[in-house]
Amino acid sequence: MIPYGRQDITEEDIKAVVEVLRSDWLTQGPTVGCFEAAVGEYCGARFGVATNSATSALHLACLALDVGEGDHVWTTPISFVASANCARMCGADVDFVDVDPHTWNMSVDALKKKLLDADRGNVLPKVVIPVHFAGLPCEMAEIRALSEQYGFRVIEDASHAVGASYRGEPVGGGRYSDITVFSFHPVKIVTTGEGGIALTNNGHWAERMARLRSHGITRDPSHMEGEAEGPWYYQQTDLGFNYRMTDIQAALGLSQLSRLDAYVSARRRLARRYDQLLAGLPIATPAYSLNANSAFHLYVVRLNAAGQRRQVFERMRAAGIGVNVHYIPIPLQPYYRRLGYKPGDFPDAEACYAGALTLPLFPGLAEADQDYVVAQLRMALEHA
Ligand SMILES: *Cc1c(COP(=O)(O)O)cnc(C)c1O
Repeated sequence: MIPYGRQDITEEDIKAVVEVLRSDWLTQGPTVGCFEAAVGEYCGARFGVATNSATSALHLACLALDVGEGDHVWTTPISFVASANCARMCGADVDFVDVDPHTWNMSVDALKKKLLDADRGNVLPKVVIPVHFAGLPCEMAEIRALSEQYGFRVIEDASHAVGASYRGEPVGGGRYSDITVFSFHPVKIVTTGEGGIALTNNGHWAERMARLRSHGITRDPSHMEGEAEGPWYYQQTDLGFNYRMTDIQAALGLSQLSRLDAYVSARRRLARRYDQLLAGLPIATPAYSLNANSAFHLYVVRLNAAGQRRQVFERMRAAGIGVNVHYIPIPLQPYYRRLGYKPGDFPDAEACYAGALTLPLFPGLAEADQDYVVAQLRMALEHA
């Protein structure tokens, strides 16, 4: 089976992990600090808080921005469920802004309309979470301008977009948002096995996220209530979690990071190659943006005839090609339906989903395998 995504692990990666295994630190230690600094430096962010997953980082980001019961958080329906769940984990209400059917990212026009309505009803969001779908950065300058106009905070769910750039700068630098989250799950662009990070330029939020990552405990007397009772003393000041990354994972991440640019170039090259090979088929290939350069976490096409998607999917799988579908709109999941969402609420997202098919894309994908994928897709479309 040619998978839709696959990690690339080198001998250097293995050596780096083994080195940590032979050291004194296995859990969060010096290597996590190095990894945080390296990701921050790559993106131009002052602070990085590494976690055991992007889901944890999104949760911490919401908590740092004081999301809680009675607050409203908006995200996009075309994403992994974690983009919305993070706000629910804080007790907030979640709503969705429909996508731009061209880029599949949160539509800025739909956001403007929804903000106008929300302003009239006095239910403005506290936080908006745009997602850089498939690695293509959202129109962040416009989203930032709206955040200033309406007074909401912005968390970028950049799980797909490590190595992407927007207006000539790496995603994660925080010019247009408050906190940015990356995922290091193995299907993403660089991996730590499981893992994530929250980047910010705000020291207060960084400290808050770091504390909540580890049970809400601090050993820093300046963050304690009252006096420290001795060198052993720590305080639990908030209700936190164990969301820590291990040094083992961070060593893998640091080693992987040295190949981030090479990975993204390989993904972009293979994506362009798909664009050319797929020209003329009854599908839409991924959109490009003048303002942004995608990291191409995913290569998602949209079938003109959505009714053929299931048959095409099954034929491709039978041919040994691990096609996938990104994403089932979050509001159509049973959990969100129970909160009141129903088919028809987000028509553009539903239309994208109906025709969506993710083709294999990863740096180690051989051109011969890519040719095979295209040939099989052509046949499947002809027979559908
Ligand atoms: C993968 C993903 C996540 C969750 O990442 P984990 O590291 O697996 O927790 C969140 N948001 C999006 C958009 C993702 O693709």
